Amino acid sequence: PYDVLVLGGGPAGAAAAIYAARKGIRTALVAERFGGQVMDTVGIENFISMPYTEGPKLAASLEQHVKEYGVDIITGQRAAQLKRDKLIELELASGATLASKSVILATGARWRELGVPGEAEYRTKGVAYCPHCDGPFFKGKHVAVIGGGNSGIEAAIDLAGIVKHVTVLEFADTLRADEVLVRKARSMANIDIITNAQTTEVLGDGSKVNGLQYTDRVSGELKQLDLAGIFVQIGLVPNTEFLKDSGLEMNRMGEIVIDTRGATSIPGVFAAGDATTVPYKQIVISMGAGATAALGAFDHLIRTSVA
Ligand code: FAD
Repeated sequence: PYDVLVLGGGPAGAAAAIYAARKGIRTALVAERFGGQVMDTVGIENFISMPYTEGPKLAASLEQHVKEYGVDIITGQRAAQLKRDKLIELELASGATLASKSVILATGARWRELGVPGEAEYRTKGVAYCPHCDGPFFKGKHVAVIGGGNSGIEAAIDLAGIVKHVTVLEFADTLRADEVLVRKARSMANIDIITNAQTTEVLGDGSKVNGLQYTDRVSGELKQLDLAGIFVQIGLVPNTEFLKDSGLEMNRMGEIVIDTRGATSIPGVFAAGDATTVPYKQIVISMGAGATAALGAFDHLIRTSVA
């Protein structure tokens, strides 16, 4: 068996594998795709110490760094189930089972998509999901935020300080965000809020976004907005569906509940990054969490004596 089995090859998984391997313990990393969400990112300007980098470049350095250590890297494999016997067992979709004394779950998350025409075509060409990451690219421009929940209204307030104008589009007839956020947004001169708005299409000129179309759900009228950017803020979905029968504690959003050392409700099972209850989902935060979980797992291993 392994001492530490890391599931996930994004920033959290890579950091966890490096921290574990540096303790001289038997470490493996299993991932469907090395790099995780970083592979879907173009410009990254908030990875501290690197004023600018790009997703695929950062993912390649993560992989190279992990490979400097004796980590068994298994990619192209999807975990299907987590079981706990004497050891912790990870069953893969291929049918194989891997056993380890400790496991670090770092399966990340994915943004919930609108599913309208133009969204996929203009992803990273004006369609964005992370205001902390991509806000500054729209300085001085008109943008929309889709979604009037906490993340949407927070995004609108955040963006209003950078961009020229923000239009918030909410499908329902009221905003679901906390009252204090709604009040703050309404007090800002360059934020407009439209409720009962169903976004139906992302419009573009072939190379970048130039607007969107929505249906006014009250009048049934089709309307159009001219925009340079669209921030989709309708939720982040953790990749934890495969854990539903594991007995692991998750919150109602499906995020794995962890403590300050990355420990989950199952002894020997740790977790890190976007798949967990950690607030603020970012690359540097995931890496720190991966390191924490690996150190937590190491602490656990030296305190238990599994055969
Ligand atoms: P992920 O990066 O999601 O990695 C998850 C890993 O788990 C992957 O290797 C995946 O293949 C694997 N996996 C998932 N399920 C399974 C399974 N069942 N079996 C096996 N493997 C599995 N953050 C910033 O700090 N700055 C930015 O500029 C920035 N821009 C972004 C732009 C976009 C378009 C997106 C989508 C995100 C952006 N983020 C940015 C957020 C950042 O990418 C994430 O916070 C970070 O990647 C989370 O790391 P993670 O390791 O927790 O998960």
